[in-house]
Amino acid sequence: MDHYALIGHPVKHSKSPLIHAAFARQTQQELSYQALLAPLDGFSDTVEIFRAGGGRGANITVPFKIEACSLASRLTGRARLAGSVNTLTFIDGDIVGDNTDGVGLVRDLLVNLGYQLTGRNILLLGAGGAARGVLFPLLQTRPISLTIANRTVKHAHELRAAFAPYAGQTAFTAGGFDDIVGWDFDVIINATSASLDKEPLPLPADIFAPDALVYDMMYGSGDTPFLSWARMAGVTRLSDGLGMLVEQAAESFALWRGVRPRSASVLSRLRHKLAPKD
Ligand code: NDP
Repeated sequence: MDHYALIGHPVKHSKSPLIHAAFARQTQQELSYQALLAPLDGFSDTVEIFRAGGGRGANITVPFKIEACSLASRLTGRARLAGSVNTLTFIDGDIVGDNTDGVGLVRDLLVNLGYQLTGRNILLLGAGGAARGVLFPLLQTRPISLTIANRTVKHAHELRAAFAPYAGQTAFTAGGFDDIVGWDFDVIINATSASLDKEPLPLPADIFAPDALVYDMMYGSGDTPFLSWARMAGVTRLSDGLGMLVEQAAESFALWRGVRPRSASVLSRLRHKLAPKD
C-alpha cells in the first residue's frame, strides 16, 4: 500500500483525509492518507521521517507552504510562480513541489459553478499565499480586468509587479480597499484570512455588478462571515471554498496516481456532511 499525508499545523479539522479516501475508493487505488501534525519548527523533519518510512507524497497546508517551496529539490513552473507549494511528490531521490490551489479554484468556478471568467471584471481580495497561488490561472482565463485589493497596500503592489508579465490584454491593477470605491465587479474572490478572525472587511457595499458571483476561499458549515455580508448586500450567487478544496485535492491525486477522480460526487457528499443541522 502507498502512503500519503497532509502535513500542517493544525490539521485536526482537515477534510483532506476524507476526500482522498473517497477518491481512492472511487478509483480502486490501494493507498492510505493521514493527517500529520508537524511541530512549528519541525516541518522538514516531519517530511523526512514520513518519506523515509515509505511516504510517496504529501499535501502541505498552513503555515508550511512557503517552507515546502524551499524544501523541494525541483519545482513545477506554477509552483515557482506562486512561490508556494501545496503538493510534494517523492520520486526516487527527488522531492518535487507543485501548487494545485489555482487550478482547483478555477475548476470550481468554471466547472462546478458554471461561471465563465473570460471577459469579466474580477476583484481578488488579499495578497497572501492563497492569492499568489491563484493569480496565474486567473489571468490565463483572460478577464477584462483583474484588481487586487489588500489591507497592506504594499503587498498588493508587490503581487501585481510579480505577475504583470502574465497579464496579456487584462487591465491588471492593485491597491487598498479604499481604491475600489465606485467600481463594479462581476466576480469577487475573498482570499484573505479575515473570515477566520470573524472580522468584516472594510469594503464598499456597492461593488457588485448585476448577477455578480461572490466567492470565499474559506468554508465551513453555512455562510462564512464574508458570504453573510454579501448576502445582506443583496448578492444571490455565492460560494464558499469547499469546491476549491476538493478540486485541488483531485489535481494532487491525479499527479500522484495518474488517474483523475470524479470530484462532483465527493463534493456533494462533503457538502451534505457539512450542512448546518437544524
Ligand atoms: P496568508 O496568511 O498568506 O494571507 C492572509 C491574507 O489575508 C493577507 O492578504 C492579509 O493581509 C489578509 N488579512 C488577514 N487578516 C485580515 C483582516 N483582519 N482584514 C483584512 N485582511 C486580512 O493566508 P493564505 O493566503 O494562505 O489563506 C487565505 C485564506 O484562504 C484562508 O482563509 C485559507 O483558509 C483560505 N484557503 C482556502 C483554500 C481552499 O482550498 N479552499 C486553499 C488555500 C487557502 P495583509 O497583507 O495586510 O497581512
